Amino acid sequence: MKVILQNDFHLTTAKVEVDDEQSVLSPNQYNRAMRKLCGIKCCYCGGLRGKITDEQDNEIDYMFQFVSGRQTIELLGYVK
Ligand SMILES: [Zn+2]
Repeated sequence: MKVILQNDFHLTTAKVEVDDEQSVLSPNQYNRAMRKLCGIKCCYCGGLRGKITDEQDNEIDYMFQFVSGRQTIELLGYVK
């Protein structure tokens, strides 16, 4: 499935392919998505700034996570 990361500040989105709504993004997927969402050096928006949804706009809960010392995001399932 594809999930859509949103940045409400720049009004940008990034699509990422994951196995399901409880997946951990690889750090490379995370970095690519963050570049797409912001890409401005020294910007303080934080990259991900808004919701993560599936393609039907169902919101997915998430938390920041580390994989091998690199930051990424863990999807925690649909928001109930
Ligand atoms: Zn920014």
